[in-house]
Parts: sequence; C-alpha cells; structure tokens
Amino acid sequence: MNILELDRQGLIDLDPANVRRKISIEELFHILQTLDALWLYDYAALEKGKKGYHAELKSMLCGDGFVNLKSVLKEYPNIRKVLAYQLVLLIEEKIRGGMRRPTHIAGVPSAASELGEDVAAMMGLKVAVAIKDDEGRIKFTTLLSENDLVLFVEDLCTKATGIKEAITDAVSSGLVNIASIILEEVVILSRGGLSEFWAVGKRFGINAAFEHRLHEWMPPDASAELKAQYPDANLCPLCTQGVLRLKPKKTDDNWRLITTAQN
Ligand SMILES: [Zn+2]
Repeated sequence: MNILELDRQGLIDLDPANVRRKISIEELFHILQTLDALWLYDYAALEKGKKGYHAELKSMLCGDGFVNLKSVLKEYPNIRKVLAYQLVLLIEEKIRGGMRRPTHIAGVPSAASELGEDVAAMMGLKVAVAIKDDEGRIKFTTLLSENDLVLFVEDLCTKATGIKEAITDAVSSGLVNIASIILEEVVILSRGGLSEFWAVGKRFGINAAFEHRLHEWMPPDASAELKAQYPDANLCPLCTQGVLRLKPKKTDDNWRLITTAQN
C-alpha cells in the first residue's frame, strides 16, 4: 500500500486494515494535503523567487503553516483509524519502555473523542468519556475507580492548552484523582516544539507520533493589543520579505491561492 500514490478518492476508499504499520511523515502530510487539511509554506520555492502567500491565523499572528486534523478525524473515519493506529504503536512502545499500561483511554474533547475510542478499541481498553459542558469545562462521565489508569490522547499539540484544561478540569471536578492519570500525553502531531507541560502541579511528557514545527510570528503592522498578548512572538520574516498574507480558510479562493501560488 503506497499511500503517497493515493488521490482523494483513493484515500476515501482506503481500508485501514491495510495500513497496520508506522506511516512516514511524508505519508501523513500527503494524506492531509490531499484532503485539504494542511498547507505548509514552501521555503525552497521562496529561494527561487516564488513568494506565494503566508497565513493570517485566527490569533491574528502570521503563520507558515495551517493544519486542521479535526476535520479529517470527523469526516474520514477510515483515516482516523489509520492515525489511531499510529498512536497505538507509540503507546505500546512507551509501555515497553516502562510506562504503566492504561486501563482507559480518554480523547481530549471534542476533537479527539472518537480518536480515543478507536485507540481504546484497538488496544482492548476501556474508554473514559470526557465531554465539554455548556460552560466549556471538561468533565468525565465515566466513573473511574482507584485502580483505573487513564491515558489522554489528542490530535494536535501546539501549546498544550486543551490537554492542560482537560486535566485541570477533570481533577478539580473531583471525578478523577490525579493518581489515576498517567503523566504522559500521546498526540498525532506536535506542531509547537513542546516536550512537556505542567498541570495540577505535575509534569506531563508529550509523546508525538509526528513532529513538525509550524511557526507563529508578529506581523510588522500589529496592534499594541496583539503585541501585549504575545510578548514573545518574533517579527514575521515573511512579511519583512514582502510575502503577502491571507486567511487560508476564509474562502475557497483563499485556500486555492495559498496552496497553489508556489507551485
Ligand atoms: Zn507575516
């Protein structure tokens, strides 16, 4: 099965049972690009004078990449199973390396809920169902006993904001004891370069099946508010080289422009 040769329809028809192996980051990127869920700025094309466009992110910062794993996990259950299997391989490797075997898998809601279910099913483990309530707080609806051990899985890790919230909410609600949570997180793609984060006074390791750094920068014309909000953001080197920016997913035209302008 050569994933790199599959077009959109080929990916839609892909039987996940035929991909019981570690896939490469090229294969992951091919899947996401073919399903319109990934754009990466092409620095090699820039060298050749093809400036193209870069992204104005939701945060208003500039970006050299855009990824939407959430839509792929939701719309393509077969691809979600291929990606879930990547997490299973990583979890088994961690267990061989000394991590305790979880009894439950929890997908960080809401993007990774079904991903968590797939991982649990593939490993013969139980699902710890976590939901977001009306106020956006994360709650476990599965009752966990003293001997249970929960491992969190997530689709994408940027600054570990979602997982930190999930753990803090889950523990503060009193439904889960911190001793029942494995101090590791397993994610499909780490895009922020983090290897750990802290929640409820504990250090959690971040274990990613794939790592690719996507940058976020301050635009030169940023407002004082934006600068105050992201005091550590560096000045955008693409803006300073005259690369125009646009909101990648605002319109179909924008997406077509940003994904083709450097071809
Ligand atoms: Zn910029």
